[in-house]
Amino acid sequence: MSLFAPDAAPPGRPYWWEDGAPLPALATIPPERTDVLVLGGGYTGLSAAITCADEGAKVTVIDAAIPGQGASTRNGGMFGAHPRLPYETMKSRFGAAAAAACYDESVAAFEFTRQLIQREAIECDLQLTGRIQMAWSRADFDAQKRLVNSVRSQSAINMELIDRDELSSEIETSRYHGAIRFPGHAALHPRKFHDGLLAAAIKRDVVVVRDCPVTEIRREAGRFVARSGSAAIRADRIIVATNGYTQGLSNWLRRRVFPLPSFIIATEPIASTTLARLAPGGRMMVETRAQHSYFRISPDGSRIVFGGRAAMRPTTPERAAARLFRTMTDIWPELRDTRLTHSWSGFTGYSFSHMPAIGSHDGFHFAAGYSGSGVAMAPYLGMKVAYQALNDPRGETVFSRMPLTTRWFHPGGQPHFLTAADMWFRHAVDRRDRLRMRRNG
Ligand SMILES: Cc1cc2nc3c(=O)[nH]c(=O)nc-3n(C[C@H](O)[C@H](O)[C@H](O)COP(=O)(O)OP(=O)(O)OC[C@H]3O[C@@H](n4cnc5c(N)ncnc54)[C@H](O)[C@@H]3O)c2cc1C
Repeated sequence: MSLFAPDAAPPGRPYWWEDGAPLPALATIPPERTDVLVLGGGYTGLSAAITCADEGAKVTVIDAAIPGQGASTRNGGMFGAHPRLPYETMKSRFGAAAAAACYDESVAAFEFTRQLIQREAIECDLQLTGRIQMAWSRADFDAQKRLVNSVRSQSAINMELIDRDELSSEIETSRYHGAIRFPGHAALHPRKFHDGLLAAAIKRDVVVVRDCPVTEIRREAGRFVARSGSAAIRADRIIVATNGYTQGLSNWLRRRVFPLPSFIIATEPIASTTLARLAPGGRMMVETRAQHSYFRISPDGSRIVFGGRAAMRPTTPERAAARLFRTMTDIWPELRDTRLTHSWSGFTGYSFSHMPAIGSHDGFHFAAGYSGSGVAMAPYLGMKVAYQALNDPRGETVFSRMPLTTRWFHPGGQPHFLTAADMWFRHAVDRRDRLRMRRNG
């Protein structure tokens, strides 16, 4: 039997695209001159554009495709920020003060983005759900206990431990060994959030240009000249906000921020009583295993949206759906007869340190490398990079101190090392997880 419902959307189409405002009419030819040129019309680029416009600059946002159709309308809508690296790892790499500051600024990033939504009256189904991160093994739960102990004394981030025998109030499954609850995290509809940011930028007379890939940035007489096809745009300042979709531009950035795919499925509608039983906590749910499943109930309460690292390389929506479905029904066996309506993917911009980075190179400013957690962080660092481009001290952030490094095995372009990583993932990690699934139940 097919995994997909008869009325399923075409493979690859995100569930979020079924809902949202029609795309406003956007220019396809850029202006010849602008104060600030922002490359990339996702959360980072639009937030940067809004900040620069509020400071009185004439701003142009140029996107290689349709703004938002990078990661910003494809993600899981899990809204919260806490660093990907364990506190102790950050402390040993960057020092205790920077590690604590990273946690504190993660809280600040969430607050900034929440206030941006409020200030611009963006209707994006914001729900203050909280999030749980579930431990896949006993060792993972021990690590979670250590993390909570060290972070609690160092930062303002709110984390609570949930023992295994209390987990049933959050989720109906026996798969996990405990969890961390982040009561301050939230959920939103990614496409509606992007629609709202786009509208806020346009309201400020920001010129937004679509289908206009910039392939060259040059300096000329103290200014920048960006080229897209035969068009040349002169700008005083350039912000590169292309993250995991950086193409045709800056091999320096592409060597440091590489595209790692993430995959999501959406189920057909499920009875509300069933959803309330499967996920009584109603939270955003993520887990600690390497395939990094993240899942939630859709904003309208009708279905499950289930994401994960079904592969480390692009694969077909059908193949990714089969893998995600297997994981979902391992957690909730009663969904075995539930069909899918959507399967899609997108590229997260990953840094080798797993930390976001912001700074400048060759005169252009950039913010990128959110490593799969950008709903709160991308708008926040978009604002920060805007201030940095304007030489405003409000651009100060601890993430400027995160080194953005590369590796000898990644010369830029397609990240071929992910082929080897994918093989390791399939054969070692996947096999280990399957064995554990069998042992657990
Ligand atoms: C499947 C998936 C699930 C995710 N889930 C979550 C989640 O639940 N929670 C969370 O916090 N984060 C999540 N993320 C991460 C989050 O979506 C991203 O961090 C965030 O959207 C990054 O926004 P951005 O504006 O930096 O980049 P993008 O939204 O990717 O935008 C980059 C833009 O740059 C444009 N561009 C590229 N090259 C050029 C060029 N040469 N000229 C002009 N334009 C160019 C592209 O066309 C694109 O529109 C997820 C990501 C994916 C892919």
